[in-house]
Amino acid sequence: MLPMDNNPWKRALAQLHAAASHLELDPLMLARLEHPDRVIEVSMPLRMDDGSIRVFDGFRVQHNNIRGPYKGGLRYHPKVDMSEVEALAFWMTMKNALVDVPFGGGKGGITVDPKKLSAGELERLTREFTRKLAPAIGPALDVPAPDVNTSAKVMQWIREEYEAVTGHEAAAVVTGKPLDAGGSEGRPEATGLGGSYVLAAFLRLLERNPRGMTVAIQGYGNVGSYLARYLQELGFVIVALSDSKGGMYVPRGITDLKAVEECKERSGRIAGCYCVGSVCDLSNMEAMGGRDLSPEEVLTLPVDVIVPAALENAITDKNARKIQASIVLELANGPTTMEADQILKKKGITVIPDILANAGGVAVSYFEWYQNQHNERWSKMDVFEKLREKMELAAEATQGAAMQYKVSLREAAYIVALQRLGSST
Ligand code: NAD
Repeated sequence: MLPMDNNPWKRALAQLHAAASHLELDPLMLARLEHPDRVIEVSMPLRMDDGSIRVFDGFRVQHNNIRGPYKGGLRYHPKVDMSEVEALAFWMTMKNALVDVPFGGGKGGITVDPKKLSAGELERLTREFTRKLAPAIGPALDVPAPDVNTSAKVMQWIREEYEAVTGHEAAAVVTGKPLDAGGSEGRPEATGLGGSYVLAAFLRLLERNPRGMTVAIQGYGNVGSYLARYLQELGFVIVALSDSKGGMYVPRGITDLKAVEECKERSGRIAGCYCVGSVCDLSNMEAMGGRDLSPEEVLTLPVDVIVPAALENAITDKNARKIQASIVLELANGPTTMEADQILKKKGITVIPDILANAGGVAVSYFEWYQNQHNERWSKMDVFEKLREKMELAAEATQGAAMQYKVSLREAAYIVALQRLGSST
């Protein structure tokens, strides 16, 4: 059992109360945000490839829809439980208000390690989950999207199954679909790219030049890999990368990210992907001046920026004191515990909070949903430009509230979100 501080839902409530204390929020609104609108729990018996039957648990929390349909991802992970999904749904309500898209907050998931399922089992489980959720989701009701371990393909299965159950076309029932199945240009890149826009915006405010600033990234999935690519384009030096199995540290910089990505695809892990030309292996480690890392070590390296881009509770009271970076860019949802947040504050470390830093994904999900509803197709350039504008506006609003209320960026982001929610009733 985790200490209360690390229980994501308790943390979400504490964050809500801290921000609300600066505002004259209607008590009814506060009570609404303290209690999710609807909590759905389903059991899914599934026939496995070997003929055995296994029962999986699935969740969907519809937190709040004052500003529009519930919106948020679906996560497939062994640690998914109701407290986590409730917190993630709450954070979506706040994030969607902060980035000013007309959605409420929702989140869902299945308690499963998808890497231990065959492709067929994963598809059958997803379709069963969709059948169970079908009465509660829809383009104007609740619109899921990808999250940890769920892909564009998974979204396509959901769309197909939802349409089969309801008997009508509904491209906008999910976002993050493949391009040829109603997806938007730029959706896979959106969360990482959006994070790079936000970091660049804050550095402009701090009058710091990104060129040469060093970055360590924990988690090299969808979000971490695109972030690395876009930060490198802005002149940052990516010195460390990790995934759940370990990582690598190259103080001079990991230059060929494409080769690293291909290596990870082939070998299933980032550790050991020391790439020179087309050769990626340990034989290059010494020549590159690199070394392997544990997944945890990546956050305490002597770098300018650390990016938790994996799961919750990555920065805790155990490692916060050891953090040497001056900026934490929270690309994962809920990566910093409350105790750790206090420690980082005392150390004068700037934390760019999750609901701002990773809002690019839902911003482009909104663009996808809009294009589906209006039968439009926007170019990638158009999507990126609109994304930049949304992220910069959200960053400016957060910075403005931080100055006005003399609070951290996290509290400021919540204050902006609460003000928007308060004026939506
Ligand atoms: P993903 O499944 O594509 O990648 C997750 C990565 O984290 C993998 O590389 C995995 O190996 C790694 N990981 C897991 N445990 C780890 C550990 N202990 N140490 C180091 N690495 C670890 O998932 P994603 O879509 O990239 O999501 C990552 C985070 O970003 C999640 O917190 C998610 O909620 C958040 N997020 C994602 C999106 C999106 O659009 N996908 C949007 C907003 C927020």
